[in-house]
Amino acid sequence: MTKTFGRIKADLRSGAASCESITMEYLGSAESGRRYNAFLSLFAEKAVARAREIDRKLKAGTAGPLAGMVVAVKDVISLKGERVTCGSKILEDFVAPYDATVIERLIAADAVIIGKTNMDEFAMGSSTENSAFGRTKLPQDEDRVPGGSSGGSAVAVKAGMCTTALGTDTGGSIRQPASFTGVVGLKPTYGRVSRYGLVAFASSFDQIGPFALTARDAATVLRVIAGRDERDATSADVPVPDYEKALTGDVRGVTIGIPKEYYGEALDPAIRAGVEKGIEALKAGGAKVREVSLPHTDYTIAAYYILATAEASSNLARYDGARYGYRAKDVRDLTEMYTRSRSEGFGAEVKRRIMLGTYVLSAGYYDAYYRKGQKVRRLIQNDFLEAFKSVDCLVTPTSPSTAFKAGEKIDDPLQMYLSDIYTTSANLAGIPGISIPCGADKQGLPIGLQILGKHFDEATILRVADFLETCNM
Ligand code: GLN
Repeated sequence: MTKTFGRIKADLRSGAASCESITMEYLGSAESGRRYNAFLSLFAEKAVARAREIDRKLKAGTAGPLAGMVVAVKDVISLKGERVTCGSKILEDFVAPYDATVIERLIAADAVIIGKTNMDEFAMGSSTENSAFGRTKLPQDEDRVPGGSSGGSAVAVKAGMCTTALGTDTGGSIRQPASFTGVVGLKPTYGRVSRYGLVAFASSFDQIGPFALTARDAATVLRVIAGRDERDATSADVPVPDYEKALTGDVRGVTIGIPKEYYGEALDPAIRAGVEKGIEALKAGGAKVREVSLPHTDYTIAAYYILATAEASSNLARYDGARYGYRAKDVRDLTEMYTRSRSEGFGAEVKRRIMLGTYVLSAGYYDAYYRKGQKVRRLIQNDFLEAFKSVDCLVTPTSPSTAFKAGEKIDDPLQMYLSDIYTTSANLAGIPGISIPCGADKQGLPIGLQILGKHFDEATILRVADFLETCNM
């Protein structure tokens, strides 16, 4: 069932559906689409019981704003009493002791949570092939990957297994899988959404955001999960606007920047053509379009993979076999317990990043890599601040290619890293970005168009995304 939340609400009002019947339908799709491996766990009974409770609230007129919405959650976000594996063997049996703030807020708004979705281990990857529990398949072509790391969430939405899903985006992990699968994916401004209860990968980059069929549904979810949270000191005390109100259906008066560095040779011609069609539609809708430059674009992948691995090496030090998670058996002493627990518990990509991150933070190389990376990060952020002096948002491709074949890049980490070329900049700068479907290539694989906005101006990128949806691309 692929229904927007607007349709669901209309069906609830007319009596054509109940929260229970909607939840059952999604569970049915999840069951029949098992081979996609989108979910790591499903809460069928709990979800139905909760849906019945919400139906009672609907009757009594006391239901919250998300009544009728069924949400899937990336398995890196804590849901009390359920496993939070992060796609890793090291946390395979780890049960979350508390709810993440985003979960609390979804539940308080009467959303039903249906299950936890597959992902690259600790959100490191662009294809879900790094999951310890097998990759997720692209519904349109099962030999291909759905993107990553939040590939399970993207497929859950695309294949009608939920209304919306939460993912996390450290360097593109919401936007890139949204683009590969053909759904909407929004990475909010850093600090817009609380990270409390999110298992950290790179703390100064990570953000939680929604996948949805439409920009409007993404707006609805964002409004519920956004806002200051005392338990996350990096969550910002900036008022949360009514994002749905910002969806005016037009783009008159909006100035759109086209960063020329994002249209270089690496870009697949079909994607270029798709995005250019989107730009024409914006012009026809009355937006002003002008070319801008982000001169430090060439350094984004390097800066990202230096800084994100540094933070990861520090964040993942806690998985030592002693405090929680997997512990190696039959060890002789403490050192062997640490080394074997980590060697056996982590997958190859996670180990690669821990080593890279430890290296760039080491006394001898800190200045050459980590400190230099921080400086480049600032230059990249300044590029955006400069561009935003003359434009309201930027339009770019989301990814240089459409969904690639499983196995194609897994043995060449650098190739895999390069698929993040258009997305990591937003995380380095802390700005919001959204990917929306924008046509298909010759094989029928979805093309993603990315809109990047000013800090805390999710409203504008949602408005532009919503307008483009009406253009029938
Ligand atoms: N693909 C990127 C990486 O592997 C981004 C991951 C993410 O956003 N979590 O780091």
